[in-house]
Amino acid sequence: MKTSASYIAVASLAMTAYAQQAVVFEGGRLIVGDGSAAIENGVFVVQSGHITALGRAIDPPAGAIRVNLAGKTVMPALINVHVHIGYEKYTSWGAQNYTAENVLDHLQREAFYGTAVTQSVGSSPLEASLQFQRDQRSGRFPPASRFLFTPGYAPPNGGPDEVLREATNALHAINQVSTAQEARASIRKMAHAGIKAVKIWVDDRNGTYPKMTPEVYNAIIDEAHKHGMIVHAHATTLPDQKAVVRAGADVLVHLVQSEKLDDEYLALLKEKKPYWATVISLGDPTAVCEYDPFFEQAMPAAVIVKIRATIERRPLAASCGPPSPNAAAREAIVAYNFPRMIEAGARIVLGTDTGIEPGHTFGSGEHVELARWVQLGLTPSEAITAATQRPAELLGLRDIGTLEVGKRANFIVLDANPLENIRNTRRISSVYLDGAKFDREALLARWKTASAAE
Ligand SMILES: [Zn+2]
Repeated sequence: MKTSASYIAVASLAMTAYAQQAVVFEGGRLIVGDGSAAIENGVFVVQSGHITALGRAIDPPAGAIRVNLAGKTVMPALINVHVHIGYEKYTSWGAQNYTAENVLDHLQREAFYGTAVTQSVGSSPLEASLQFQRDQRSGRFPPASRFLFTPGYAPPNGGPDEVLREATNALHAINQVSTAQEARASIRKMAHAGIKAVKIWVDDRNGTYPKMTPEVYNAIIDEAHKHGMIVHAHATTLPDQKAVVRAGADVLVHLVQSEKLDDEYLALLKEKKPYWATVISLGDPTAVCEYDPFFEQAMPAAVIVKIRATIERRPLAASCGPPSPNAAAREAIVAYNFPRMIEAGARIVLGTDTGIEPGHTFGSGEHVELARWVQLGLTPSEAITAATQRPAELLGLRDIGTLEVGKRANFIVLDANPLENIRNTRRISSVYLDGAKFDREALLARWKTASAAE
């Protein structure tokens, strides 16, 4: 990939001088991320990118730098298991934008908003994504959210909605399989390439698409499990969700919004306990409607104007757009189904679907999704765990997800307490990745310049 002056500048600014020296962060409220009570007036020590001590009273190592966090709250950095990276460019959208540089831009936006790991699901081309991961691991890029991806599977002419399908077709990013034999052969190839998870689309888009057959998805799930891989399943109707959970899918994507869940499905969830990426907030224009600078700061002015002009009113939005005729009925079903999914044992994890269509900036959607969960009945503490510890568990990442000794120091410093109001996750004071302060100001300056140059 070609290097650009703009992100090299960001890289050098983002390097902190004291990455190897011990730093003591003291006086803050610490949210561990495992659902335990917050540690008030806590202390933790970071050295060589890791948390080396944490508690209420700690003897700081000699010569350590001290950072006073009185009045602040610290929580683990977020982990987003479901985005579609690379196609958005804020003034255009599509396959032509898919470059390593643009993927990096999206990962920097994720980091800006406090997300330390970002997984692109189903729509990322295999070879380019593997290469990006190698380059990121070897330190070729400036600090950004850690990139994970899963290959995607669909029947020929099936899969994602039309906008994303056109873009992924141009890159041959989605594996089109028609038979169990093809599916198994492809999964074996992925296993040999070191792939740990795949995504399937099981959806006929109201009869407009060919649907993945049970023969094919059963083969994918079975073969994936033989190789220790997990399977994310996009299924939006009740019969389809039942079918994929019964078949052993590990991660459900989406919430059934067209009908109420029945006892048969709830019993199935109790038995299988799948992970569940709700992705219910995509397109929620609340933030834009509220003229919230938290979201707008990352958006070119022209994009904001366009979004405001075209949005449809969603459940959280009060200030702009006409209400869609079906919104109230859909919201009643969402309010019915969401707590029942949780009670039945679906293990909720953070995912946003950002990048699947134009007009969403990477990283901010996480905070909308968190607020939506709390609106639907989770406690703020449960929501934070579902955005930190649990996605780390799902992704098999042992070095991240909580504020604990031995973990990498990936955390967000907040000016207000999200346990009191989940919207306080937006009050970001700073973000740390692997112990180094992420340079949010440099990105802000870059976005301002880009917006002004339009
Ligand atoms: Zn998606």
